[in-house]
Amino acid sequence: MPAKILPAITPERCTGCGRCVAACAPHVLSLHIHKWVKTARLDDASACTACAQCLVVCPFGAVRMVRVGGKSISYEIRA
Ligand code: SF4
Ligand code: SF4
Repeated sequence: MPAKILPAITPERCTGCGRCVAACAPHVLSLHIHKWVKTARLDDASACTACAQCLVVCPFGAVRMVRVGGKSISYEIRA
């Protein structure tokens, strides 16, 4: 899978205010309710344009942009 930048939402910080959902032009974010708690979730990662508007508008610092996929470098440290 080629590398891609995607939003990662921290559920503990998300208040379910919906600002990120409203700001997302391709409409790939939505609010989900689980055990009476509403949080935002990325529904379609393939259609996300990585514009980071969701991060910009979130007043609670609940969104980070993270790099996913692509080649990773692994190494080992020996004593
Ligand atoms: S803007 Fe932030 S707090 Fe509001 S729903 Fe989106 S991630 Fe949650
Ligand atoms: S990065 Fe842009 S396209 Fe992707 S979920 Fe956030 S607002 Fe939507």
